[in-house]
Amino acid sequence: MSIIVNIEAAGYNVQIGDLPLSSLKEMVCSKYDLANTFILVDENTKQLCLPTFELIFAEEPEFEKATIITIPSGEKNKNIDTVTAIARVLTTGNASRSALLINLGGGVLCDTGGFAASIYKRGIDFINVPTTLLSQVDASIGGKVGVDLDDLKNYLGVFNNPRAVFVEPRFLETLNPREIRAGFGEILKHGLIADKDYFEIAKNHSLDYSAETALSWSKLIARSVEIKNKIVLEDPTEQGLRKVLNFGHTVGHAVETYFLNTEKPLLHGEAIAVGMICECYLSSAITGMKSNTLDAITEVISSLFGSVQLDQGIHGELLNVMQQDKKNQEGKINFTLLKDIGEPLIDQYADDTLIREALGFYEEFAVHH
Ligand code: NAD
Repeated sequence: MSIIVNIEAAGYNVQIGDLPLSSLKEMVCSKYDLANTFILVDENTKQLCLPTFELIFAEEPEFEKATIITIPSGEKNKNIDTVTAIARVLTTGNASRSALLINLGGGVLCDTGGFAASIYKRGIDFINVPTTLLSQVDASIGGKVGVDLDDLKNYLGVFNNPRAVFVEPRFLETLNPREIRAGFGEILKHGLIADKDYFEIAKNHSLDYSAETALSWSKLIARSVEIKNKIVLEDPTEQGLRKVLNFGHTVGHAVETYFLNTEKPLLHGEAIAVGMICECYLSSAITGMKSNTLDAITEVISSLFGSVQLDQGIHGELLNVMQQDKKNQEGKINFTLLKDIGEPLIDQYADDTLIREALGFYEEFAVHH
C-alpha cells in the first residue's frame, strides 16, 4: 500500500509516501546536471539509505557523475568546520552556481547541508531527503538551516527553503527505536499545539515501523508536516505564530544542554518530552489548563519516555540556561504554553519560583508515578 501526499510549502513541495524518490529522480534529471549534483550523507546514511537512493537512479548512466560527500554524523559535528569541509568538496568538484546539493540524512545533516548550500557561492539549490523521524516531521521543512557555535545551538544560520522535500517513511526501517521515539515527541507536540484528534490518534500509535504500520506512519508523518507547514507559511521568520512550535522547548533546551555535558546525553526529542510536561504544569498555573488535562498529557508522555532524573540540585543550573535562551525578552524567560490541547498561547512568562515548581512537579509525577 502506498500513499503519496503532496503538501505545498513556501515555493516548494513536500512529497510523502512510498514513491517520492521516483519523483526526486524526475526532478533532478529534468532540472539539473548530474555532473553538477552532490549528495550529502553521513557514515550511517551512506550505508543504510544511499543504496535505496542509488537503486532509483540505477538506469541513469549520468548518475555516476554525481559526487557523494560524506560527513561524520552527530550533533558535535554540526558546526562551521563541517560546512567548510562540504564547501571544499563542492569547490574541488567544480560545483557551479547551478549545482544541486541533496541532503540524505537526519536533522543534523539537513541543517548543516542546507546551510552550506545557502552560503556556497551565495547560494545553490538544495533538496532534503530526510531519513530520521524527527527530520521527516520537523527539521527538513520550514526553512531554518544552520549549525551550532560551540555549545550554543543553531547560533549560525539563515532562513532558506529547499527546492523540494521527499519523505520516504521506509527509511525508518533501519532507525533505532530510541531515535524513533525521540522523533515521536515532536509528533505529540504537533498534536498538542494544533489538533486534539491528531494527539489522540498519535498517542495510541505503535512505535514500530513494519509492513503493517507503514501506511499509518505515512499518514501520521503527513499530518505532522501539514501542521508544521501551515504554521510556517503564516509566519516564516518567527515574528509571532511560529513560536507555537517552541512549546516544550524552553525547559527542553535547558535540559538538553545540561545533559549534553554529562555521561548520559539526551536526544533532542527526549529533552523536549521533559519540557512539554514542565510547560504543561506552567500552563495549569498561568493559562488555566485543567488539572485533568495536565495529568492526562503527563501520563501519555511519561509512559512513553520514562523519566529523567532532575534532582533539585540541578534546578538552579537549568534556570541559568533558560535565562540565556535566545527567545527571551527583556530578561524574562519566554514560553509557549497551552490553554488546552490544540490551543497554544505564545509569549507567556513565568518567574523562577514557578519554574522550580514545574521542575518539582516533573520529579513528583513523572518520576514517581
Ligand atoms: P541526527 O541527524 O543526528 O540523526 C540521528 C542518527 O541517526 C545519526 O547517527 C544518523 O546518522 C542516523 N540515521 C539517520 N538516518 C538513519 C536511518 N534511516 N537509519 C539508521 N540511522 C540513521 O538527529 P535528528 O534527530 O534527525 O536531528 C536532530 C537535529 O535536528 C538537531 O540538530 C536539531 O537542532 C535539528 N532540528 C532542526 C529543525 C529545523 O527546523 N531546522 C527542527 C528540529 C530539529
